[in-house]
Amino acid sequence: MVQTVRQLVGVESPSDNKAAADRLASLLAGRFEGLGGHAKFHRAQDFGDHLQVDFPGKRGKPVLLLGHYDTVYPVGTLASMPCRVTDGRLSGPGALDMKSGITMMLAAIEGLLAWHGELPRPITVLLVSDEEVGSDSSRRITESLAKNSEAVLVLEPSLGLQGALKTARKGVGEYTLKATGKAAHSGLDFEKGQSAILELARQIPVISKLTNLRRGVTLNVGLVRGGTRVNVIPAEATATLDVRIAHMKDATDIDRKLRRLKPFNRKCKLEIKGGLNRPPMERTTGVAALFKKASEIAKQLGWKLTEAAVGGGSDGNITAGMGIPTLDGLGGVGDGAHAPHEFILISELPRRAALVAALVEAV
Ligand SMILES: [Zn+2]
Repeated sequence: MVQTVRQLVGVESPSDNKAAADRLASLLAGRFEGLGGHAKFHRAQDFGDHLQVDFPGKRGKPVLLLGHYDTVYPVGTLASMPCRVTDGRLSGPGALDMKSGITMMLAAIEGLLAWHGELPRPITVLLVSDEEVGSDSSRRITESLAKNSEAVLVLEPSLGLQGALKTARKGVGEYTLKATGKAAHSGLDFEKGQSAILELARQIPVISKLTNLRRGVTLNVGLVRGGTRVNVIPAEATATLDVRIAHMKDATDIDRKLRRLKPFNRKCKLEIKGGLNRPPMERTTGVAALFKKASEIAKQLGWKLTEAAVGGGSDGNITAGMGIPTLDGLGGVGDGAHAPHEFILISELPRRAALVAALVEAV
């Protein structure tokens, strides 16, 4: 498994570099076909082709093993952040998020085949290439495969060095608020101008007040832009905000409140665009039942599995939002996803692959 993670990390695959990503996709297709799967590419214009691999099994509906093969690291990152194995850790771009998860998929399928001669139930593997940039291009494929699946196992990284599974994730939305005023010379015609920046600045506290930590609702104005020159009253300003919600029912409420924002300066206009990108993954009874199975299996393997609710979204949000039992965070254990010190704990690889294999049998 270490060799496989190293091989996958060695082929850089940023979301925004189709040629590079496609190289990894074809390598992966070969690896899964080597285990007897049938690989199919879903062509994507601006991203790597999304990879689906179908494995036949003894009975029932397939389990969907879901993940992504894109990373946030541009080509060339390996030069400053090489793949290294030291002190039981394997580090490198994408090692944790989520090339170790893909390695576990391979190991779980290989293990099941070695043990039973055939898979106890069909498995569909879906590895998308645009998860790190919002999954717009792959969402439909994820939805259509999830719809026909018994359960979805997401091999995204686990949480913390204890390797907690993720049984709840916040939903993620993005909005852009644009304020329009009137430009004027700040010296000659000050009174004729209507400042869009001032208008936007007054809206930001209003937006921030919609945050409700107790309910798991947060709004972050993360990007602000406006104005043209220091001596011009700014006619335009925009703010982009990241919205996170723990419960679906808060989504419409926040959306309505944002769309109802009124300008303080009546001579300015406000325009809001955007919406929810991924629904929250709520801890439904289906999710809880799946976690219970996972923790029983882990117990047999001699370890105590924990669960956590997290603020970040993944494609598990999409499948859980459809009501398909989904378990996330089954992948690598480590730290530093998207950061220069990204690493996994090598010792966790086999037992977590075993957990995935046993879950395929148990669902
Ligand atoms: Zn990821």
